[in-house]
Amino acid sequence: MINSDISMDVILEAMSISYDSIFMVNIERNNIVAFRKSDKLPKEFWDFVSENPSYDELLKYYVERYVSDDSDQMLDMVCLDALSKQLKDQPAYSYDHRINRNGETLWYRMRIVNFSDGPELSLFIIGFENITNEKNREEILYGTGKKLLIISEKIDYSKVLENSFNSDFDMICADGINEGWLNLVEKAGEIAAIILDYTILKEACFNFLKKYSRVQRYKSIPVVVVLSVVTPELEVKLLSEGASDIIVSPINVELAKTKIRSLIRLRTASSLHNIPKVDPLTGLYSKDYFYEQVEEIIQSDNESKFILVVSDIEKFKVINERYGIDVGDEVLKYFADSFKKAIPNYVIGGRIGGDVFAVLQRDLCFTFDENIKIARKLIANAPVANLVINQGVYSIDREENLTAQAMCDRASLAMNSIKGVYGKYFAVYDDKFRQDLLIQQQIVDNMEHALRNKEFQVYLQPKYDVKNNRVAGAEALVRWIHPELGFMNPGMFIPIFEKNGFIKNLDGYVFEQVCHTLDRWKKEDKCLVPISINLSRRDFEVEDLADNIIGFVDAFGIDHSLIHFEVTETAFIENAGVITDIIEKFHDAGFVIELDDFGTGYSSLTTLNSIDIDVLKLDMSIIKNYVPGSERNVLEFCMQLVNMMGLDAVAEGVETKEQVEKLAQIGCDYIQGYYFSKPIPIVDFEKYLLEKNSNN
Ligand code: C2E
Ligand code: CA
Ligand code: CA
Repeated sequence: MINSDISMDVILEAMSISYDSIFMVNIERNNIVAFRKSDKLPKEFWDFVSENPSYDELLKYYVERYVSDDSDQMLDMVCLDALSKQLKDQPAYSYDHRINRNGETLWYRMRIVNFSDGPELSLFIIGFENITNEKNREEILYGTGKKLLIISEKIDYSKVLENSFNSDFDMICADGINEGWLNLVEKAGEIAAIILDYTILKEACFNFLKKYSRVQRYKSIPVVVVLSVVTPELEVKLLSEGASDIIVSPINVELAKTKIRSLIRLRTASSLHNIPKVDPLTGLYSKDYFYEQVEEIIQSDNESKFILVVSDIEKFKVINERYGIDVGDEVLKYFADSFKKAIPNYVIGGRIGGDVFAVLQRDLCFTFDENIKIARKLIANAPVANLVINQGVYSIDREENLTAQAMCDRASLAMNSIKGVYGKYFAVYDDKFRQDLLIQQQIVDNMEHALRNKEFQVYLQPKYDVKNNRVAGAEALVRWIHPELGFMNPGMFIPIFEKNGFIKNLDGYVFEQVCHTLDRWKKEDKCLVPISINLSRRDFEVEDLADNIIGFVDAFGIDHSLIHFEVTETAFIENAGVITDIIEKFHDAGFVIELDDFGTGYSSLTTLNSIDIDVLKLDMSIIKNYVPGSERNVLEFCMQLVNMMGLDAVAEGVETKEQVEKLAQIGCDYIQGYYFSKPIPIVDFEKYLLEKNSNN
């Protein structure tokens, strides 16, 4: 089933390095989910998306309102029928188009990636990438949409030239060499080619050519000289001074245009070749060239099996900030060099992002252990200590026929799935990713409906007071009884909700349920024990959280001490100021504050001292690792801390009798765990409570 390591965020991250909007289209279920919403499109559009249109309806809506190109053509090319055909024999398809927004024209690339299971198109992701800059650069390179600079003297005559070309080009007409030169200097970026009129300007043309050929950046702008009388000597002289070609007056317009156009193409093509193939800092291939080479190598070598490994230095930004750019550069160089030297069967390497490297390896004797060993060694010798590199592997499957970029995307997807996961630095892309993606999509897609439909249920797990042999309270733990996926533990959906913010709604619901329960217990004269509610760090984003909660509780007339809040240390550390203030309000109002998962984070004594907590919840890892009497004993240390600070302690995840006894021995009396009870439905908890507490 789902792997909770791979969150929606991870997939988005891999998908969305450059995408403004991302949609997932599920044809079978006839729904479209927007993962990311570009602010380049107006609210009406996003409202329309949420009305659950079909793919073709949505496409039509988009194309008709925003696309400024030939809209019929776009509909023909990317409608569902067309996509089904396009994606039959390739995994992805792109369509470039222009949109018009608030008077601004933007170029967008619509990229469709097929995630279907079988041959039928049933599931795909669409990303919209703003490629306006790229397109502008391309236009500059290919000279499209650019101008001819005509340098002549008599305005009349330049008119003749202008009339010859203006059906195909925009013009700048300059009167004389000086004005021509000034125009070139000021507007070089707009100029595709120069027409220099020798018939009028004569020898002055050589002055122009001399200056022109000295400037490197004008090399991509060809100069065509117009002559009325051509002698071989003059031709040679002009060409050797820097002219690109000659046309003869009176001008054969068609011939001249063809000449100019092919000159522009030639020049720009050669300047395209100047796009660096190698990243100057690391000596690895640049991104595009790396992709190109990977595809070539794979095609030319049918025998070998290849793998692509993408590596990323964790928190590279921090290195730059802490040690300076020079050290950052040194780290990058170090890894690039080491990859070349240390990786077995290294074929080529590329730098595909600021701190992201990709290496093509021949998969002759590749093992996990080997790669991990190598990575460890590299890290140990790196110029900066305690670096972490994450690596993702895609084992190249020729059948899948992916572009090199798509292969790197998959390796990155695997890599991102372990980012921040302690002790895991290496992951391989496999089909499970697709499955996870589907389930995650279903979760996001269903969450709102599920909340309205009461599919979320609050379970209670008893906290047991060993000394007095009674139930001291309970923790509210949410479950999702999903109509298709069945019973789901929070590990499957809470991390997703924490990322997309829905946790705020869910926790609000749990809180209300807890209040209703306590209220009912009071009315039914049942035994009253406190219930703790988990607060996620996102809950603290809710406006007026403390006032709202207090108001709600007071409306029921529930005693504040019956409600406990559990907050994790990591939440505190991430957003100390805001959370500390809210917690203080809760604490002052008489709610009980428990610090959850204690022992897994990094809180210092100072942090502990600065927040108003009443209870430390000792994480189950501390209890599992407990060896009595051993020297550096975390559990005993925690208990000393608890006593010193006058707090209570609850041990979590207690499963055995031995653990209970040991805990009692060191003075930890409150215990929560399977040994006493799993989290159970509220009605079952009531029975449990009645049974355990009735004798006291
Ligand atoms: P947590 O707050 O640390 O909750 C304790 C987890 O340990 C629960 O998992 C519980 O079922 C499990 N547990 C209790 N006793 C034992 C034991 O003896 N052995 C073992 N192996 N496990 C035990 P659960 O219910 O799956 O919840 C997982 C996490 O999800 C919770 O960890 C909490 O962080 C989060 N969560 C659950 N419900 C909510 C909620 O309503 N709101 C928020 N924000 N988070 C929730
Ligand atoms: Ca908890
Ligand atoms: Ca916990």
